[in-house]
Amino acid sequence: LVQMENVNKHFGALHVLKDINLTVSRGEVLVVIGPSGGGKSTLCRTINRLETIDGGKIVFDGQVLPEEGKGLARLRSEVGMVFQSFNLFAHKTIRENVTLGPTKVRRQARAAADTRAMELLERVGIAAQADKYPAQLSGGQQQRVAIARALAMDPKMILFDEPTSALDPEMVQEVLDVMIGLARDGMTMMVVTHEMGFARRAANRVVFMADGQIVEENTPDEFFTNAQTERARDFLSKIL
Ligand code: ATP
Ligand code: MG
Repeated sequence: LVQMENVNKHFGALHVLKDINLTVSRGEVLVVIGPSGGGKSTLCRTINRLETIDGGKIVFDGQVLPEEGKGLARLRSEVGMVFQSFNLFAHKTIRENVTLGPTKVRRQARAAADTRAMELLERVGIAAQADKYPAQLSGGQQQRVAIARALAMDPKMILFDEPTSALDPEMVQEVLDVMIGLARDGMTMMVVTHEMGFARRAANRVVFMADGQIVEENTPDEFFTNAQTERARDFLSKIL
């Protein structure tokens, strides 16, 4: 679904992505881990062009990622994104947060969008909160709304950038459970996370990134028990 070839990205003099080569297949769950500042968020953001690249190319679903115009809007609607900070619209209800994309971007009829929104809210376990506002929900609930909102666009892939890092510990698992469900249902996912339990249970592949490079790429089993590089072993010894 995604092919990155020699992708490079600079922020001024800072070289944040260095010759990244990475493929994500349909239905695959890729977990990206690594030290702070290593380029994980930037890597995610290049896939839906929240960041441009300055070298190499990214092919998504058979097409080279466009820089702008109609193609870009379509791409954005095909790649969902869930951030650390839930980014819900504070002045809209939960239901409205989920229907906004489908009605405004996809021009779906209100009734159809509402029905679908309620199905999705059911799926993430918060249908009962549909008419509340984000501030009335816990962090874990808000993040589940953010996932439902991403799903409402029927994305081909969802990018998760540390989706549980801002949550109180007791709310982490309810969000991970929703993500594990998505993974089982075959959603293509790229997940930046330090939740190693999730990586072990749901990931097909772990990518270890440091200093703008993919240092190691392996199955979770191999990676956690038998990391190939000193850099990865050192990182794991600090977080496990
Ligand atoms: P973390 O684990 O802390 O989230 P990360 O692996 O996601 O880190 P990135 O956010 O991708 O890392 O950042 C990679 C590098 O690029 C860092 O040095 C960061 O300071 C820098 N950077 C990120 N965004 C920008 C920006 N918009 N302008 C300038 N520098 C940036
Ligand atoms: Mg980050």
